[in-house]
Amino acid sequence: LIAAKDVVVSFGSTPALRGADLSASRGEIVAIMGPSGSGKSTLLHSLAGILAPDSGEIWFDGRRVDTMGEPERSTLRRERFGFVFQFGQLVPELTAEENVALPLLLGGQRRAAALRQARAWFERLDLEGLEQRRSGELSGGQAQRVALARGLVCGPEILFADEPTGALDSLTGERVMELLVASAREHGTTVILVTHEPRVAVYADREVIMRDGLVNTLTPDRIGS
Ligand code: ATP
Ligand code: MG
Repeated sequence: LIAAKDVVVSFGSTPALRGADLSASRGEIVAIMGPSGSGKSTLLHSLAGILAPDSGEIWFDGRRVDTMGEPERSTLRRERFGFVFQFGQLVPELTAEENVALPLLLGGQRRAAALRQARAWFERLDLEGLEQRRSGELSGGQAQRVALARGLVCGPEILFADEPTGALDSLTGERVMELLVASAREHGTTVILVTHEPRVAVYADREVIMRDGLVNTLTPDRIGS
């Protein structure tokens, strides 16, 4: 469904990706692990068409993403991808429910219908009663779940999630992962997530480890042997 092939990205003289390869099929959950600075977020942004690589190829659903024009790429992101950023990125002026409804409103849905759909996520993510709060009035873990709801509200074919459980206690983190697994199994959502937590990665169908801008497809068990 989606693939990165030999992707290279540099920020000035800093190499972030040095020929990274990763693919995922429909309904598959892939966990990307690896040390800080190894290129995990950069790979996620490249796959999602947020960042254009210096070289290499990004493919989604049989089409090259990296060579598309920005208007086409932004349509793809809005209609078929969901994204949960590593650092919150809720809109502070909007309420929690407006933040969740935002992708629907940008897609042209009417306000009442968009908010109704958004509210359904508050129950699923244990956020009842927080619909009207501004993002500054939410705890880190609550804001993270609001961001997750916003990533899922469109029913994306692929959810890209950068540390989606980083601010959650382990029980809440496990509930979030169970929700993502259910979404993958029931709707065929592909989930590509970055995590530092082995406890979260066990929910994935497949784990990959990044080091120095490259993807190592060996599992952690095999690296030691
Ligand atoms: P972490 O686990 O800390 O989130 P990461 O694996 O997500 O790390 P990236 O954010 O992909 O790492 O960064 C890879 C490399 O690229 C790092 O050396 C980082 O300093 C550099 N880098 C990332 N984004 C930028 C940027 N916007 N400008 C300059 N350098 C950047
Ligand atoms: Mg990162």
